[in-house]
Amino acid sequence: MNQHDDRPVGLLYTGGTFGMRQSERGYEPTDDLPQRVERDIPELRAPGMPPIEWIDHDAGPPINSSDVTPSLWYALADTIRANAERCRGFIVIHGTDTLAYTGSALSFLQPAGDRPVIVTGASRPLGETGSDAAMNLLNALRVIAAGVTTETGLVFGDRLLRANRTTKRHGMYGQPFASPPCEPLAGIGERIEYRTGAEDERPGGGAASPATSARDVRIAMLPVYPGLDARTFNAVADSGVQGIVLEAYPAGIGPGGDRAFVDAVAAAHARGVVVGAVSQARDGRIRMGRYASSTPLAAAGVVSGADMTREAALTKLHILFSVGAGPESVREQFARNLQGELTDE
Ligand code: ASP
Repeated sequence: MNQHDDRPVGLLYTGGTFGMRQSERGYEPTDDLPQRVERDIPELRAPGMPPIEWIDHDAGPPINSSDVTPSLWYALADTIRANAERCRGFIVIHGTDTLAYTGSALSFLQPAGDRPVIVTGASRPLGETGSDAAMNLLNALRVIAAGVTTETGLVFGDRLLRANRTTKRHGMYGQPFASPPCEPLAGIGERIEYRTGAEDERPGGGAASPATSARDVRIAMLPVYPGLDARTFNAVADSGVQGIVLEAYPAGIGPGGDRAFVDAVAAAHARGVVVGAVSQARDGRIRMGRYASSTPLAAAGVVSGADMTREAALTKLHILFSVGAGPESVREQFARNLQGELTDE
């Protein structure tokens, strides 16, 4: 561990199973997590563990992460940015349902500069039999204390994943996060084994200025399915959104043979609505032009999100618009690797 840095690791608690308690209505967030952590995780005081500091934020009281809205991403980023100099890194404790969205958003906002921000949660609350909460927090702290990575990472169990590559795969047991097709950044065992070359996968860019960003951006997500037509597309495209993440068929993209649908996409594009495609196969990638059916859609303005997750695509569009990029710039950056979120072919 890096013993030269005695600054604390900043802890931001947003809610989620990690700090919940069972009530007659089911699991509910509690606000006494800092006290419970101090009491129930004595390993925090083990030699070599970095000091921690709980940081208040303006993102509201602890919530189930199913209630997260984009305003939470910007509130967390504001707080991290305001404390960046004082801390050697940050851990965000968050519910798992939308953890991949918040982690992706923070990766594009880069509020801590070159310091690591690790998002984590738990499948069972701290203090319950079989809880993974303590292990996840301790492993996140060890990753920051090691002083090796500058990533926005997601720690769960024995893995450090690139946050903007993650997606939740199932809720109850084992490892709930996958990051196809990005290999874990590190395995966390007795030692932390980092994958070499991972840092080079992030060319940088897309860093936002949260203090000046507009937060009233609206982005929609729309899956492609047999029967999706111009009427439904227009209902979304005309609802005041600046961008649409189209969850497309991996190879054929969408109904490129439906003239009215293609015209609706082209009209939205002409109005400045950015339509970005990601694959609805969770480990797939968009291949524009491979099938003739995709060509009219590409010509109408659908831009490829390559192998981005839906979480990365949605947050990337939101943040690019929030910092004032125009539609053409958003389209160009959406298709380009900024923070390791997509693989060029
Ligand atoms: N529904 C919970 C949440 O996302 C699930 C969890 O934390 O695991 O807040």
